[in-house]
Amino acid sequence: MKVQPVHRGMFSHPDFAGHETVSFVSDEASGLKAIIAVHDTTLGPALGGCRRWAYDGETAALKDVLRLSRGMTLKNAVAGLDLGGGKAVILSDGKEATPAMWHAFGRTVNRLGGDYITAEDVGTGQAAVDAIAEASEHVRGTSAKGLGDPSPYTAWGVFSGLKAAVKHALGTDSLDGLTIAVQGTGNVGADVARLAREDGARLILADIREAAVTALAQELDASVVAVDQIHAAKADVFAPCALGGALNAKTIPQLTARVVAGAANNQLDMPEDAARLAERGILYAPDFVINAGGVISIALAEAFPAQEAMRARVGELGTVLSDIFKAADAGEGTTDSIAVRMARARIAASRENRC
Ligand code: NAD
Repeated sequence: MKVQPVHRGMFSHPDFAGHETVSFVSDEASGLKAIIAVHDTTLGPALGGCRRWAYDGETAALKDVLRLSRGMTLKNAVAGLDLGGGKAVILSDGKEATPAMWHAFGRTVNRLGGDYITAEDVGTGQAAVDAIAEASEHVRGTSAKGLGDPSPYTAWGVFSGLKAAVKHALGTDSLDGLTIAVQGTGNVGADVARLAREDGARLILADIREAAVTALAQELDASVVAVDQIHAAKADVFAPCALGGALNAKTIPQLTARVVAGAANNQLDMPEDAARLAERGILYAPDFVINAGGVISIALAEAFPAQEAMRARVGELGTVLSDIFKAADAGEGTTDSIAVRMARARIAASRENRC
């Protein structure tokens, strides 16, 4: 096994963003190829999931892990967790991952000496996390010690944040009569859709998995549109719950929704997309704030072992978002820039206290 903490050209990478370490990992015996990025450990060890994905090349994988890792620093800070930010990606070759690969990944995590704590993400489920835990103690969300799948808590946080955004932008406490367009009906998106339906919303859904989205549409009496049309569907709220980059120079002018609130990480393609949304009068719930429910459930499983108590803790994200929306109304910046400032202020205060 090789761990190479330095990469040529890394410091000038546009998404480098001051990462503490970036490790390129390979294990020929198991076929593991991974990148582990530790962005900032000021508030504590860097907690962030491990994503396994068939990337369109190594450059795409590197960009993804750097952006996700920085996002975890911001997310953990705004969520009030004493944890830093990091992330891992495993470059999938399309074959089934083996226990040997998860064990090799666990051994690599060990080499970082506890600076990085891993968990599940897209492409790594409970079985993978449990297999990693056979080789490493630096894992959260195992079936032995955790609350299980974090997705329902992520969905609960997104639902709480979506309601806070609707109240702020549209002045209503209920989703009754509103239309929500959900892009991506996987673990989180499907649960967000179910919660919104229970609250009276009409739903428009889209997913590349046609059979799954059709079944969910039947369950929720929803309509289905093509994946390249969902952002433009006539709706009050657009909920990006697939992968990143849903909000960009092409899609933002086509949005009809007045609120964007969804689970996906890295929803903004470029930082200036936050201003594009604000200019159009669209209220954007920053992704790294609204989707923190899952990491909260992983990080605080021992402090809030009961589902209801954890839901209450996660639901506080709605209050955090309301404060961000008010600050944006007061002219303090875009919702995204305000949330970034909040995170950075907490990290800076912690750094000062240490000195
Ligand atoms: P998932 O893989 O279960 O669901 C993603 C869904 O998006 C899948 O059904 C997939 O088919 C669909 N999809 C992919 N590309 C699409 C496209 N172009 N258009 C429409 N649908 C498309 O993943 P998930 O766990 O539900 O996570 C969804 C998003 O939320 C991801 O961005 C993830 O990083 C983020 N997130 C998840 C959690 C969590 O707890 N699971 C926590 C924080 C953030």
